[in-house]
Amino acid sequence: MSYVALYRRWRPTSFADLVGQEHISRTLSRAVTSGQTSHAYLFTGPRGTGKTSTAKILARSLNCAQGPTLTPCGQCESCRAIADGSSMDVFEIDAASNRGIDEIRDLRETVKFAPTEGRCKIYIIDEVHMLTTEAFNALLKTLEEPPPSVLFILATTEPHKVPATIQSRCQRYDFHRITVAEIRERLSYVCRESGIAANDDALSIIAAQADGGMRDALSILDQCSALAEGTLTAEQVQESLGLVGKERIAQLAVQIADKDGSGLLAGLSELLQSGRELNRIFVELALHFRALMIAGVGGASFAAEFSGTEAAAEQLRADAARFSQPEIMNILRRISETLQEMRTAPQPRITAETLLLSLCRESLTPADSGTHTAPAAQQPSVDTGRIARLEAQVQQLTAALAAVRSGTVSAPAALASAASPKAVKLPAARAPQSRGKAAAAKPPEAAEKVQRTLDMELWQRFSAQLGVRDKLAASLLSGAAYEGMTERQFFIRPARDIARKFIRERHRGIFEEVMTKLVGRAMEVVCTGDEEEQESVPIPAAPQQPEYPAQVKDLLSIAGAGARVEEIEKPARQDRPAPPAAPTRAVPEESSVPYDTYEPTPDEEAEMFDELPDDEET
Ligand SMILES: [Zn+2]
Repeated sequence: MSYVALYRRWRPTSFADLVGQEHISRTLSRAVTSGQTSHAYLFTGPRGTGKTSTAKILARSLNCAQGPTLTPCGQCESCRAIADGSSMDVFEIDAASNRGIDEIRDLRETVKFAPTEGRCKIYIIDEVHMLTTEAFNALLKTLEEPPPSVLFILATTEPHKVPATIQSRCQRYDFHRITVAEIRERLSYVCRESGIAANDDALSIIAAQADGGMRDALSILDQCSALAEGTLTAEQVQESLGLVGKERIAQLAVQIADKDGSGLLAGLSELLQSGRELNRIFVELALHFRALMIAGVGGASFAAEFSGTEAAAEQLRADAARFSQPEIMNILRRISETLQEMRTAPQPRITAETLLLSLCRESLTPADSGTHTAPAAQQPSVDTGRIARLEAQVQQLTAALAAVRSGTVSAPAALASAASPKAVKLPAARAPQSRGKAAAAKPPEAAEKVQRTLDMELWQRFSAQLGVRDKLAASLLSGAAYEGMTERQFFIRPARDIARKFIRERHRGIFEEVMTKLVGRAMEVVCTGDEEEQESVPIPAAPQQPEYPAQVKDLLSIAGAGARVEEIEKPARQDRPAPPAAPTRAVPEESSVPYDTYEPTPDEEAEMFDELPDDEET
């Protein structure tokens, strides 16, 4: 007998076998037992999560000689015919292969005839979003007037491409990504039943690599176990998948925490020497930081995602504790940007090294700065500022809430003032601390007045180069002023707050990379234009306050010294930040620019957020 792939042999044959889709198997089971199946279903979800398998289970349940039943016998003619694809009543159409025109035309002809052997005729249309408009229209006509005893099951990975007219005529079921723990459990069952020897670590790696798809998990197991001699080990899995390996990746993360720049470069070089792919290394690094992020959050999500021993979990938690959540998110974002840049970079390795070094240079944790030996230019970190602002907002809201609880002000009034950062300044106790942090993190140039050079020709070359590398990033320079450079930093004053935010938070890497290449030494971008405004803000001394109503006074006392009252006639949205003359910008950037002022086009969105390749095939 010829070899049958594991994923075929272990395809679920009843609702009870379906892994990770209990919400679907429960509802469909009820429909089958009560005889109330719909005439059209839309199954959506990532690949390999059981859409087609469920469609076939439903077909067998309905057409089994002993059915309708939740436990199709698997022996009767109908069950066997459905299993081997020869059933006269169950039609599988793959819309991806020829876009379905002929099939749908045939379908419209044959759909009128009664089922030959089973109780109903079942049409399973896979990748239905690939149908042409013409085919969709033909299908729609059939769905509008479904003949009796006909069931349509449409499956797709991209439901948004299925016309609303079709969707509205179907019952929709969303299949979930299967968790790592569920996949591992199933793998270990399959191994036991098929006599494959594999240790738990090996199965955990496979489960994690499958990205929520059981079919992929079983295919990887198939591939790895074919190569392995004896018991399948973690090393063998890593080897056959070309994985870098958890330990090596975890070590890189620790080096980032240690700000060990030379260690990182050496580690990267060693991995490349040993034949690992650059892209692969960074995908795994991102996955590792994701694991750290989830370990930091803890709870059920960690239990569902994590697939190792208790000792490994402990290690992961300890590693996670070296970073704050905002730092991890910052790192994840930077890695995903770098992965994207590497696709087009002529020398992807430089892009990668620039990232690793810049992660070392940034002040990741305020408490850390100064203790490490790596050359850290004390650049004001985006996150430090952001955290300070968020802390201030939380304080304002807490104060407002306290006021509401104590009954001194009404909820709308309190919320209105808390939500308007212009009106209430940071509580005084808080302000010196956050200013202190910001001052400590200022670039030395700002304090020492290091001479900047202004080379306009270099600037023009930089703009041109950036335009070639990344049009979107270059567009952020529109209207920006060049403010010179020092040995390590170059200064840009973007024309708009949103551009500054984007440069800092999303495109910093490419700006620095382009400039670094041009001048031949590591350069850091500093966006100016907001910190001066913040600095020049005189803290208004509280005294001669006009007579405010009692509620406002209460709120002022909660907000603390330095709070200011501003009368607002209507909650007008300000697209532009207040002119610098207005001396209160407690929360400068985040709040003065509403989030919806910049709406990236879908292409830009994809470009910016197209992060970890979830189609990472191995
Ligand atoms: Zn049967």
